[in-house]
Amino acid sequence: MKILAVGWNYMAHNKELNPTNVPTEPVIFMKPETALLRENKPFFLPDFSSDVQYETEVVVRISKMGKNISEKFAPRYYDAYALGIDFTARDLQRKFKENGGPWEICKGFDNSAPISEFIPKEELGDLSALPFHLDLNGATVQQGNTKDMIFNVDTIIAYVSRFFTLKTGDLIFTGTPVGVGPVKIGDRLEGYLADRKLLDFRVE
Ligand code: MG
Repeated sequence: MKILAVGWNYMAHNKELNPTNVPTEPVIFMKPETALLRENKPFFLPDFSSDVQYETEVVVRISKMGKNISEKFAPRYYDAYALGIDFTARDLQRKFKENGGPWEICKGFDNSAPISEFIPKEELGDLSALPFHLDLNGATVQQGNTKDMIFNVDTIIAYVSRFFTLKTGDLIFTGTPVGVGPVKIGDRLEGYLADRKLLDFRVE
C-alpha cells in the first residue's frame, strides 16, 4: 500500500508557513508504509531532527482500485476515515526546500504517520463539513474542518489517480489546518474526529 499526502491544503496553515503560498493544483507527496504508527503506540522522537512538528489531518482509505477517476465518481473509491498525524522534521524540510530538493526524508521517516482506527464513511457522513481537532497536553492546538480544504477529497482523488493507480488500502492524508508546532518528550497528543477521540498517544 501507499500513503499519499496533500501539502498546503488549508489557507490559514499556508499563511503560517509561507504567506505567499496559494496552490493552483494539489501538492502531493508520499510516505512509505513503514511510516505508519498504529494503535496509539508511543512516538519516539528521532535523533536526526530537533524540530519534529505535528500536523493533524483527516485520512481517507481507498476501497477500490482505480485510475483516472473522475471527481463525480470519486466517492465510490473510499469507504472510511481516520485521523492521522503527518509528523514533519521541519528543520530538515527547511534545508531541503532551500536546496530545492525532494522532501521524502523529512516527511516519510519511520513512524511519521500515526493513524487512528478507521470509521466507516456511513457513520460520519461525507467530508463537506467534518470537524477535527488536536489537544497537546490537554490544550487544543489545532482545530480544523474539512469544509476549509482548498482541494476537497474528490478533487484530490481525481488528481492523484491521473498519475498513480489507487489500490485498496491506500491512504490519503488530506492536509493540515493552522496551528502546527513542535513536540517534545513527554507530550500527550489527543486527536478528535467530529466528537470521537481517536488518537491518544505519547511522545517518548
Ligand atoms: Mg501535512
